[in-house]
Amino acid sequence: MSSGYHLFCPFCGYEKFLSHGSGMLFFKVYEETLKAAKTGEQGENIKRFFEEHPDGVINANLIMTQCENCGEYWSVKNLSTYIPKSKKSTPSDGRNLVFMRHSNTMQTTQNNENYLSEEVLDDYYDLVEQYPHSCEYCHGKLKILNDNIQDMKALICPYCKTKLIKTPVEWD
Ligand SMILES: [Zn+2]
Ligand SMILES: [Zn+2]
Repeated sequence: MSSGYHLFCPFCGYEKFLSHGSGMLFFKVYEETLKAAKTGEQGENIKRFFEEHPDGVINANLIMTQCENCGEYWSVKNLSTYIPKSKKSTPSDGRNLVFMRHSNTMQTTQNNENYLSEEVLDDYYDLVEQYPHSCEYCHGKLKILNDNIQDMKALICPYCKTKLIKTPVEWD
């Protein structure tokens, strides 16, 4: 399940759909993200990270962000990298570690897709680096928006600064 917000500016008509991963890591999405990471699609830093840490994992969840410079909103993949907390428990093939080792914590959606909660990632892994997300329009730094009333109610239109109308959306 994913969820997000439809943003709408009643003054200038600006519209954006922001989605976030709801604290779940889907196996299929994870595999795709990992493959892209290792081939350098997400930059040299992440590619090098996986060369140095074959047992490392990457957070494939979507997050909601806003550009600190131009104010535009973006849904981006988290892409934070992690290494296992205990060296002893590192299996030889680290790629599917996060899913295989904690199979007792795995859950299945209606479509039989496996996912893992972000809490398990936090419990068994140490954060190494947060991905420095930047704005596609102006290359400004993106700040992460939390899905809470305080963060969400303050959102304003990037173009005319009018307070945005936020409609929560959820789907499978
Ligand atoms: Zn506007
Ligand atoms: Zn920007």
